[in-house]
Order: sequence, then C-alpha cells, then structure tokens
Amino acid sequence: MVEHLQRYGVISSMKVAEVMETIDRALFAPDGASAYADSPMAIGYNATISAPHMHATCLQLLEQNLQPGMHALDVGSGTGYLTACFAIMVGPQGRAVGVEHIPELVASSIKNIEKSAAAPLLKEGSLLVHAGDGRQGWPECAPYDAIHVGAAAPEIPQALLDQLKPGGRMVIPVGNMFQDLKVVDKNMDGSISIRSETSVRYVPLTSRDAQLRGY
Ligand code: SAH
Repeated sequence: MVEHLQRYGVISSMKVAEVMETIDRALFAPDGASAYADSPMAIGYNATISAPHMHATCLQLLEQNLQPGMHALDVGSGTGYLTACFAIMVGPQGRAVGVEHIPELVASSIKNIEKSAAAPLLKEGSLLVHAGDGRQGWPECAPYDAIHVGAAAPEIPQALLDQLKPGGRMVIPVGNMFQDLKVVDKNMDGSISIRSETSVRYVPLTSRDAQLRGY
C-alpha cells in the first residue's frame, strides 16, 4: 500500500512512508482483507476510516508540526489510526490527543491502538483518546503544534483556532456538499493564513445526535 502511494506520488516523505508502515492499517480497518485498498471504509455509527491517500496527505501536510516533542490534536479520531501515527511521530516526549464523540468508537480505537506499534505510548500517557465534542478541541493539552480534523466543518471552529500554537498548523476539511481541505497556519504574530489544498469528501463534523440519525 505504501509503495503504491509512493509510486503514484501521494507519499514523497520518507518519514510518512515509515510511520504508515509502522502503524498497520489492518489493525484499524473493520475488514482486514481490504484494509490496504485505497478507499474509505464504513466503521459503523455513520463514520468511516479515511482512505490511505487522505491519511498520507494529512500526515505530509502536518509533518513539520509533528516533530519529536510536539503536541498534536486529532479531532474526530474514529478508528485511532492517525492519532497512532501522530503519537509515533511526536514520540514519548510529545503528546498526541484524539477526541471522538462516539464513545463506542473511542473504546474500539483504544483496543486498535493497543494492538499496534503505538501501544507503549498509550501506556506511558503520551497518546490519549477522549470522548467529547471535538468542535471544542481539547483545551487541557493545548496549545497544539498540529491539529487534524477528520470530519468536514461548515466553518473553522474558533476553539480550534484558539488552541493552535503560533507557528502551528491545522488541516481541516471545510464545507457541506462540496468541501476543501484547508491548511490553516497560525503565524508567529497570531495572524492566520488559510489555503485550500484539494477538494475532498468527508463525513460532517456535527453533533452526535445528528450523526446517529444519519445527518
Ligand atoms: N481519521 C478518522 C476519521 C473518522 S471519520 C479515521 O480515519 O479513522 C470522522 C469521525 O469524526 C467519525 O468517527 C465521527 O464520529 C467523528 N466526529 C464527527 N463529528 C464530531 C464531533 N463534533 N466531535 C468529535 N468527533 C466527531
């Protein structure tokens, strides 16, 4: 899978290739057999595990902000796949926090992580997954060098902007039917620069009730 993504130019970073080889997607996907296919898969509760090319794209966009010792937040952490990748990249001196609003997914993501190469980081406490509304971020561990949002927001939540460190970067899909993956940089003076990376299709960042109703 990783070689395929490298061959097609999705992965150019060695570090991202390495972390995606270290964290085995089959431990996180519902059906191990098709885990390496380049498509999203349903994980229940109207949620999906994102396609490998989206995981790779987001890891690459955030690579400079996922260096050892840095703090990362993964909003809508779902299966926990990217949270585990973040934890490996920031290492034991850093911190990777997942926030997911479906408690059953939080519980299953912790089980997935326990089977993965990120298990020691979970045990030592540099990797955490919390149940909560990710639109509020996770202020207890803020500010963050990197914030990833795994569900599409109608607009960028202010709480997430507030929890981004100066020099920090957030990657977030924004829109309803038509969504853009936005790269949001907080400059050292606190001002914000935003650009669109690509068009995407994510499940909405919404309330738990709306999601369980099918939006
Ligand atoms: N990166 C995850 C993506 C999961 S899909 C993965 O690849 O496994 C998006 C996730 O966002 C779903 O699990 C959904 O339950 C969650 N979500 C949607 N709205 C949310 C909110 N307001 N707070 C927290 N999680 C939310």
